[in-house]
Amino acid sequence: VPENRDRIVVVGAGHAAGQLVASLRGEGFAGDITLIGEEPVHPYQRPPLSKQYLAGELSGDRLLFRPADFYRKNAVQIRLGCRAIGIDRDARTVTLEGGERIGYSGLALATGARVRPLPVEGHDLAGVFYLRTIDDVNRIRARLETARAVVIIGGGFIGLEVAAVMAKLGKRVTVLEMQDRLMPRVVSPTVSEFYREAHARHGVRVVTGAQVSALAGTNGEVRAVACAGGEECAADLVVIGIGVIPNTVLAQSAGLACDNGIVVDEFASTSDPRVVAAGDCTNHPSAWAGRRLRLESVQNALDQSKIAAATLCDKRRPYREVPWFWSDQYDLKLQMVGLSQGFDREIVRGAIGEGRFSVFYFRGERLLAVDSISRPADHMVSRRLLGAGVAVTPEQAGDPDFELKSLL
Ligand SMILES: Cc1cc2nc3c(=O)[nH]c(=O)nc-3n(C[C@H](O)[C@H](O)[C@H](O)COP(=O)(O)OP(=O)(O)OC[C@H]3O[C@@H](n4cnc5c(N)ncnc54)[C@H](O)[C@@H]3O)c2cc1C
Repeated sequence: VPENRDRIVVVGAGHAAGQLVASLRGEGFAGDITLIGEEPVHPYQRPPLSKQYLAGELSGDRLLFRPADFYRKNAVQIRLGCRAIGIDRDARTVTLEGGERIGYSGLALATGARVRPLPVEGHDLAGVFYLRTIDDVNRIRARLETARAVVIIGGGFIGLEVAAVMAKLGKRVTVLEMQDRLMPRVVSPTVSEFYREAHARHGVRVVTGAQVSALAGTNGEVRAVACAGGEECAADLVVIGIGVIPNTVLAQSAGLACDNGIVVDEFASTSDPRVVAAGDCTNHPSAWAGRRLRLESVQNALDQSKIAAATLCDKRRPYREVPWFWSDQYDLKLQMVGLSQGFDREIVRGAIGEGRFSVFYFRGERLLAVDSISRPADHMVSRRLLGAGVAVTPEQAGDPDFELKSLL
């Protein structure tokens, strides 16, 4: 039986895992730590993948969450290019592909999410890509040398960031979005419309209500994207960004509760008290939102990992951070805080026409969320207001002369 005393095993080596091991040492954990990651790279940051890294403005080593020698200095054993395929919770072991077993006293699952596949004919043609990993972007960049007509399927954050980069690189770009507006899951129609116009100004064609029916090819290379209704869009490079699916197979096969993510409590504990989970793979109760959430954000990966590490060190602290997120498209910085779903009133602060404004979302008198476009000060103060639960009235939000900071 493998040694399993005083060793924490972390499965997954993404943003959440990188923070988790740093926090374990920060909390004073002195035992062994083993980090198991399927990708052949040290934990890295994904946000630049669809932004500066895709644009060729950032080198690969700048993506790393911590320099590689951080793990050596902190005595973290790293197993990269290595997949965990099983957990035996009675024996307290993790099985790796190849059969090796590693014992644990505590286990952390930070398995993240994988791209949602587009199940249409032609999805496997050369020139068709998803975007989740460094490797994906390296392959897209290689194709960019010859590609001219780029079609992006999905008008969410990733699709639109890719569209902005491709437009800047001089490609002919079309975005196909199934819903009737851009980023429909997360922003209001006001913000969607602003971004549609911004993309149009940069020459990007946005088609909403587009139902992709097939990808057509010649000699195994993508040539066009066909939509229901007969429209065909010429393409020699296609990027699909239609969302992600949490990686729960490993947890599920170990009998841990899963339901749209690995189910954890406010301490990041799974249904097994020796096992925690953090990041994109979890379905967690948010004390801030008052309901369960599955978030796909750096904020959640970082904050929940700190909670998970504390729990493994018997220092339980509940997770109560306010969610926040950002997206860079052209020179526009979109920053979001809170969750706007269910709002019944929106108040605009600043000037939409100047491309610098914030939208405050209310339900009744309660502020739910704030989206800021190139108004970082609004975002920072809103984060503090929402985090502290300070009341803001619609009148205060809409009055550009009212100092929101004075409420803190
Ligand atoms: C292109 C792109 C742009 C983004 N932009 C933003 C942004 O602007 N702002 C923002 O807040 N968020 C952004 N995000 C989201 C953010 O990157 C994620 O929320 C974050 O990466 C989640 O971290 P994670 O560690 O939970 O999961 P992941 O980063 O998905 O890492 C999980 C890792 O675990 C590995 N793994 C899974 N199963 C196993 C197994 N069985 N054995 C071994 N290894 C395994 C996976 O291969 C992966 O490397 C973006 C994401 C992408 C893809």
